[in-house]
Amino acid sequence: MQEHHNDQPLGPGEHLDPVCGMTVQEGEGAITLDYKDKTYYFCGTGCRRAFEKDPEKFLREGPSIKMG
Ligand SMILES: [Zn+2]
Repeated sequence: MQEHHNDQPLGPGEHLDPVCGMTVQEGEGAITLDYKDKTYYFCGTGCRRAFEKDPEKFLREGPSIKMG
């Protein structure tokens, strides 16, 4: 188990979930949302829905870790 800060370098094909801060691998089945000409990746539909509701909040404040 490793704890990372959010400024960790992402590997190829990896994206940061802007809601919870998880690293998401792109590819088939990836949960994405296009917002302002940028594609965001999410660990699950819950995070995507949260981002959809208030994208500016997450872009402004960054991911906040919350489980559940
Ligand atoms: Zn997430």
